[in-house]
Amino acid sequence: MTDQIINFTNSLLPNTRLESGNSFFWSPKQNKITYNQSSITSPIGIWSMLHEVAHASMGHTNYSSDLELLKLEVEAWDEAKKLAADLGQMIDDDHIQDCLDTYRDWLHRRSTCPNCGIVCLQSTSILYRCHNCNTSWNVSASRFCRPYRLQIDSQKQERPQVLTATFL
Ligand SMILES: [Zn+2]
Ligand SMILES: [Zn+2]
Repeated sequence: MTDQIINFTNSLLPNTRLESGNSFFWSPKQNKITYNQSSITSPIGIWSMLHEVAHASMGHTNYSSDLELLKLEVEAWDEAKKLAADLGQMIDDDHIQDCLDTYRDWLHRRSTCPNCGIVCLQSTSILYRCHNCNTSWNVSASRFCRPYRLQIDSQKQERPQVLTATFL
């Protein structure tokens, strides 16, 4: 199965580099998929690989908000299911929901107002503002960092920012 999935990836994405490493991720900047050599033989490893192939084949390069990242993750799993079907495989839906829950939990932590506890909408890629109490807080740009919320002066200028990153 490992050879099959590597060959499948190479024929689908002839210009994308494949490299073995500690975990599975897609780097749009380097046009490279990193995969874990020892776990790619297991079902979850195969699903993870197909998920990264989906990110790459859909051309996911950046996102400007936490919610948009979650949307890209959902899209990548939908596409991964189709790729799996091409290989005669099925991706377990519970696994997909577990993965997406990680993002949903992360989004919930970042979007909860540190002052009044209400869930808020994001203002920029690194800033949230509460519609209830007007508190603003910065969030770290990189995903799955410990959510660090710093309250900032609400008068401060914010610059819109687009995040370029790797996709897990
Ligand atoms: Zn609030
Ligand atoms: Zn992903």
